[in-house]
Amino acid sequence: MTKQLFYKNPKQIEFFAKVKKCTKIDNSFHIVLDKTCFYPEGGGQSGDRGIIENLQRTHTIEVIDTQRENKEIIHICDSPIEVGLKVIGKIDQIFRFDLMQQHTGQHLISAIFFREFKIQTKGVHFGAQVSTIDFITERIPDFMLIQAETLANLLVAKSLVIRTGSFSPQDAKKLKLRKMANSYEDKVRVCFIDRYDAVACCGVHFKKTSEIGPIKFLQTEKLADGTTRLSFVAGQRSLTLFNLYHNSCESLKRSLSAPIEKITEELENLKANNQLRVDEMGKRLDSLQNNLSEILQSVENVIIFDQLDSKDFSEIGKRLSVTKNFFLLINQQEESANFIALLRGDGEKERLSQIAYRFGGKNNFYQGKLSESRLGDLQIEEIKRFFQ
Ligand SMILES: [Zn+2]
Repeated sequence: MTKQLFYKNPKQIEFFAKVKKCTKIDNSFHIVLDKTCFYPEGGGQSGDRGIIENLQRTHTIEVIDTQRENKEIIHICDSPIEVGLKVIGKIDQIFRFDLMQQHTGQHLISAIFFREFKIQTKGVHFGAQVSTIDFITERIPDFMLIQAETLANLLVAKSLVIRTGSFSPQDAKKLKLRKMANSYEDKVRVCFIDRYDAVACCGVHFKKTSEIGPIKFLQTEKLADGTTRLSFVAGQRSLTLFNLYHNSCESLKRSLSAPIEKITEELENLKANNQLRVDEMGKRLDSLQNNLSEILQSVENVIIFDQLDSKDFSEIGKRLSVTKNFFLLINQQEESANFIALLRGDGEKERLSQIAYRFGGKNNFYQGKLSESRLGDLQIEEIKRFFQ
């Protein structure tokens, strides 16, 4: 059994230990130490990351994740390490501190909804950017969100004491926990926020609510199972998100030349004006297309282009095919001559097949390559004479 140092002192980030096992599984190495500060994934909280190194600190391996297997804690590493070696383990404290802020913050938010509004938590998820709590209620009104967020930050400021303790399942029942553990071993680990909340949890928590830092609710979403999902950030993430919003707002203020309280109004005006322009341009385009159709009807039957963009060439062919009943378009390239043709009969098709290098199509509409080089003036004159 691995000795778990993280419960006694959740803020300990470095420790000495001895390597008990090192097993290669797929592309990673599963390492067991005699003791560890690395918290294994559980209670909705991710497993710790960090490093393990020899005492001389000349050989370091990365711990990518930490998992629990029965009573052993498995450090999932990118490289092996010698069994029996004395090592120093060091957790990624920024990663851990952030997780503890989200996790302990979630305890406080769930406690507030339960105590103040009798709304129970169904599930939680801690994401890389935001975390969510699913509440057993179809709707959370705005006043409730404002009240709960204000109270959460007030209880953070009050720096309430957070304690944990282990109890027998019988004693744990007497504590009237907000939520019992899903399954018991011999002991139930309980996390208390002062006298405000008591809940079964195997995660790691701060000693005081002030360490959670600022809590910001983001949005609610009604789920199909009748629950409502609240997303939130806590601690440093609140400041990171504030900076993101602040920078975006400053950039918008500059672009729109508007004060912050007018940004939304200015954007709505901009959208409305853009729509007007799009509608106007649509009408002008329709008018141009009508005029173009009339012009195309009167153009010559054989038209020679010089190095026209292939998409434009196709587009002209497509448009002519609906306005004229006969035409031959040739697009002279540096080393070829392409064509698009709508023919009137088999005689013209026969002639085209004689002069074309490659062609294909149906219903008198053909396209392909007339030659693998530019056509000469005489060839063009001859083609014009025949097809005009
Ligand atoms: Zn917890």
